[in-house]
Amino acid sequence: MPLPPTGRPAPEILAELDALQAQDVDWRGGKVFSLAYDAGDEVYELGKEASARFSSANGLNPFAFPSLGRMQADVVDVFRQLLNGGDQAAGFMTSGGTESILLAVKGARNRGRELGITAPEVVLPTTAHAAFSKACADYGLRAVRVPVGPDFKADVAAMAAAVTANTVLLVASAPSYPQGVIDDVAGVAAVAADAGALCHVDACMGGVTLPYLERLGLPIPPFDFRVPGVTSMSVDLHKYGYAPKGASVVLYRSKELRKHQTFTTDDWLGGFYASSGILGTKSGGPIAGAWAVLQHLGDDGYLRLARTARAAFERLVAGLRSIDGVQVLGEPEATLVAFTCPAVDTFAVGRALWDKGWYADQQAPPPSLHCTVHAGHAGTVGAFVDAVRATLAEVGVATAEAVPYASLE
Ligand SMILES: *Cc1c(COP(=O)(O)O)cnc(C)c1O
Repeated sequence: MPLPPTGRPAPEILAELDALQAQDVDWRGGKVFSLAYDAGDEVYELGKEASARFSSANGLNPFAFPSLGRMQADVVDVFRQLLNGGDQAAGFMTSGGTESILLAVKGARNRGRELGITAPEVVLPTTAHAAFSKACADYGLRAVRVPVGPDFKADVAAMAAAVTANTVLLVASAPSYPQGVIDDVAGVAAVAADAGALCHVDACMGGVTLPYLERLGLPIPPFDFRVPGVTSMSVDLHKYGYAPKGASVVLYRSKELRKHQTFTTDDWLGGFYASSGILGTKSGGPIAGAWAVLQHLGDDGYLRLARTARAAFERLVAGLRSIDGVQVLGEPEATLVAFTCPAVDTFAVGRALWDKGWYADQQAPPPSLHCTVHAGHAGTVGAFVDAVRATLAEVGVATAEAVPYASLE
């Protein structure tokens, strides 16, 4: 598409945007179990309005935009308290879980350098998010992936055995993305502390839900800064914070630990330059959007949403387990579940569900479908279970000869 030779009127462009948007998944209808999170119209409209108001403001310079400096500090402080960081914990808002993880890995590498480690390694379970592999690739660390146990949880003894003098960081997830189980954070953090290495807890998913599930009386194992040896955490606001996209927090146990991730220079003709994360110019939109949604929902709002999401999740897991030919992977502990259909081609089930308007992630190994359950699914999980049951029967007939995984690409 060339740039239009003459500009077009705004109403015409907005109509075209509407038409484009109509092609996307309808993530607000409760039929999409991935990628987007829905806490209702009021929350959505507020997040949209707040982020629109600050979308051209630049968080790169909090002296020119003290509003954004203030809102970022408020948001970080909420999570410092929610995740029991104590007085010394400090962090930054980032653009997402990936940026939070990139920064924590870069910080671990930089700290390692100060200790004389020139070939740094990160020891992490095979369930840890792909963003850790990306971080290692981008920043020159070796990712040492350690197979998880049959329960899909980190194998702490095997991780300990993988530690070398070059290990700068160990990783645990709370919960893991693929199967939604919570690693033995205390075990992993103890190995890290023994090795003089750092320990990052990836709570991109659980950072907002687990504190509330714990308060609701569920047996959530210790996963946050209460665990000695945990040195940093990531938590995504654009997931279970129900904020508009582009908002996450990376937290460190101390400012001393945080300083390894920041960058400053005066080595150019533009004067002193500092940035907290990967971005330079940083839109105020996601900052204001997240700040507004946190204020609007408040503690009681997040408790209510966690209760709703958890109830929907429990109905989904029970429903899936009631279907002959469906196997839930592991014992999912938060609000995410993965399942496989051992007798048929699980991805064919996923595609057939998609044809009926249901979206679940297809992941492997093992080939499975993945559902992230949020409050917006309260009214639809029953219909989804029915759809899985019906689809399984159809696909079972259609794919008597299962298609091998590799040929599905
Ligand atoms: C989503 C997610 C990430 C990556 O976050 P993005 O916001 O997609 O960049 C990392 N870890 C876990 C556990 C996640 O769920």
